[in-house]
Amino acid sequence: MKLHSRSIAVTVGLAAGMMASSLSAQQAPARRDFEKEITAALASAKTAAQFDFLGTLVRTCLVPQSEGENTTDVPYPYVTDPSKAPSRASWYTEPAKVFDNLYFVGGKVHSAWAMTTKEGIILFDTIYPYNSEELIIGGMKKMGLDPANIKYLMISHAHGDHIGGAEMLQQRYAKFGMRTVMTDPDWTLVEKYPNRYKSMAPKRDITATDGMKITLGESTITLTHTPGHTPGTLSYTFQVFDKGRPVNVAYSGGTAFNFNNRTPDPGIKNFQIYLDSQKKFAEVAAASGATVLLSNHSEFDIADSKNKMFASRGNGPHPYEQGAEAVQRYFKVMQGCARASQLKLEQRQAEGK
Ligand SMILES: [Zn+2]
Repeated sequence: MKLHSRSIAVTVGLAAGMMASSLSAQQAPARRDFEKEITAALASAKTAAQFDFLGTLVRTCLVPQSEGENTTDVPYPYVTDPSKAPSRASWYTEPAKVFDNLYFVGGKVHSAWAMTTKEGIILFDTIYPYNSEELIIGGMKKMGLDPANIKYLMISHAHGDHIGGAEMLQQRYAKFGMRTVMTDPDWTLVEKYPNRYKSMAPKRDITATDGMKITLGESTITLTHTPGHTPGTLSYTFQVFDKGRPVNVAYSGGTAFNFNNRTPDPGIKNFQIYLDSQKKFAEVAAASGATVLLSNHSEFDIADSKNKMFASRGNGPHPYEQGAEAVQRYFKVMQGCARASQLKLEQRQAEGK
């Protein structure tokens, strides 16, 4: 009996296989429905954003991305002619104490953060040459912090809106022991374009590597290499305290897509590098127990608006603390929007455009 049923099964299986092969021989290969895939990627980003990451959704899914990485060595107009700097009203905002040991010392759009420890201060990102003096140095002083106590200057990536104040800070505070930390690809970028980085470029100092830990006093910063936005973009995980309670933070170092320039590459490949970095840092953030997502742009973490909530917080929840699930949703927004853009390039490639 057993033998008999097995032979029936073999016969049925063979027949099904023959039918499938004759069907596929008759049909033309199915055309990929790129529109459907793009819509699905955008929908996944929208679902993940909820109300927490609308700025991120708009900026990465909706607003057209810049065409490509700057490869010129021309100084920025606001460096050669200070009158070309944006008006103060467009960037000025007040500093804020965000956690027991973390201060916001950035502007309305671009952020800088000062972490205090028993052995000095760690500063994350330095905004522009034209506003770093007022916002970072002025902001720290307003918060009762002495910039001469900065021991580490962490640059997430070498773009003018984050490295802009680094040269000035290094010139003033390296003599008090301040070290500057950036990845090799971004140090190389700075050295390759001396005119573009005029008035911004710190001298090469500590070369950051993936997984490196930097400890100052009681605080340890874990560095994660998240290439994509620039080849050397760094993201960070660390712990802060809210009224004495430890809170874990994931700081995303580079967000916008600036490699949407041609098909097939570097666009498609760079989007893959970017996507892989988002997945990787999402895992690092989850493993670290991050319940707060910080960025170096206010549009991604809504820092400037959240800072204004502290005045009426009382015993209410911390405005920045969204929970581990929300932090993971941030990375899903990034991945959905990046995948949609990558699919558009794949579609152009498939259509031979
Ligand atoms: Zn950038």
